[in-house]
Amino acid sequence: MGTLLVRHARRLLTMDDALTEWEDGGIYVEDNVIRAVGPTTALPEHADTVIDATNHVVLPGLVNTHHHFFQTLTRALPAAQDVGLFAWLRYHYPIWARLTPEAIRVSTQVAIAELLRSGCTTAADHTYIWPNGSRLDDQIEAAQQLGIRFHAARGSMSVGESRGGLPPDAVVEDEETILRDCRRVIEHYHDPARYAMVRIVVAPCSPFSVSPTLMRQSAELARAYGVHLHTHLAETRDEIAYCRETFGKRPVELAEELGWVGPDVWHAHMVHLTEDEIGRIGHTRTGVAHCPTSNMRLGSGIAPVPALLQAGARVGLGVDGSASNDSSHLLAEARNALLLHRITGDPGALTARQVLWLATRGGAAVLGRDDIGQLAPGMAADFIGVRIDSLDLAGGAVHDPVAALVFCHPPYVDFSVVNGRIRVWKGEIVDLDLPALIARHNALAHALVRGEPVR
Ligand code: ZN
Repeated sequence: MGTLLVRHARRLLTMDDALTEWEDGGIYVEDNVIRAVGPTTALPEHADTVIDATNHVVLPGLVNTHHHFFQTLTRALPAAQDVGLFAWLRYHYPIWARLTPEAIRVSTQVAIAELLRSGCTTAADHTYIWPNGSRLDDQIEAAQQLGIRFHAARGSMSVGESRGGLPPDAVVEDEETILRDCRRVIEHYHDPARYAMVRIVVAPCSPFSVSPTLMRQSAELARAYGVHLHTHLAETRDEIAYCRETFGKRPVELAEELGWVGPDVWHAHMVHLTEDEIGRIGHTRTGVAHCPTSNMRLGSGIAPVPALLQAGARVGLGVDGSASNDSSHLLAEARNALLLHRITGDPGALTARQVLWLATRGGAAVLGRDDIGQLAPGMAADFIGVRIDSLDLAGGAVHDPVAALVFCHPPYVDFSVVNGRIRVWKGEIVDLDLPALIARHNALAHALVRGEPVR
């Protein structure tokens, strides 16, 4: 891949331990690894590719820790716009039961395109429904084509309505099949090496759609291979009530009993926690994917993020599924995180730099990575540049270009580099026919919801 040099960034935010910011900063990259960061004058003068970032703020690529790519096909459905999680899920399950391999692949491309354009360079996805021959392989292929760093969570549901679960029986899999496929994709795709572009995660969906046996066996399987674990936990009051009635305990107690806490586990949401549970999540260094937009959209509540951080938990941001957001815009998620925690009456609950930290270092820690999330020698060459001379940032970036990224809501980044490769240039995804992709995606979405064959 050769060498790449970013020069003259108006402001360069490193997100290193000292939170260093450089004026007229730059980055020097060899192949896929950052070799030097600092003032432009201290860097080499030549490289195979040179990016002039005179009108840009440059920062590490953002990390998305929770998503359901397939839900881009079912955004803003009228009957699911104003309901809570359980009703929302019950409405969507029969529609998602008609997903096909092509629908999984095309929705994955759309979600990744949106993520890349909004500054994300590493994403985790959690697909937990695999009808009609759909496979994780389709998502991995799409991610590799678009060049995003991908943590593919092999999700699952095994407890249907007839056994007391929330999903209809038609969309759940048997537990043997789930575990066998998890083993298959780990052995085929998981890369534990530094700078890995694909890692596999074992991810039963939620306490109300899988059995404690599958949770326990999933944890054993994941730990035998050294891969990480992910699920939804403590998202809504309905889930708390379900766990009390079904298991006689709260979601966090259930997770603890099943071995689902620790540095190799992260949970989406964690909205409804007692003070004691916050302490235990922090003490065990369990990860949390904070999804403020989804939590607001579904009326789920406000996750105690400042307290979780105080307690030592690893916390990152997630856009969550595109049908409960209904967007895959990671910079917008950072903005919503900033705003949501101020609602409680504390206008300093989280600062702009703190939510950007969550979106970079926080997310890297949640995914168990020490090679992304900051700009420093030896780190993966994942970074983004946002124009500060745009309409959206006018009168903001001139005062504080870093905070303006969060306060002023720029629609997309100008450039994005992932693993040393330029993936977004002048706001457009490289090597992607976006209008054709959107047209196919819309045709699939239309047919999926109406139960019609796709033409
Ligand atoms: Zn989710």
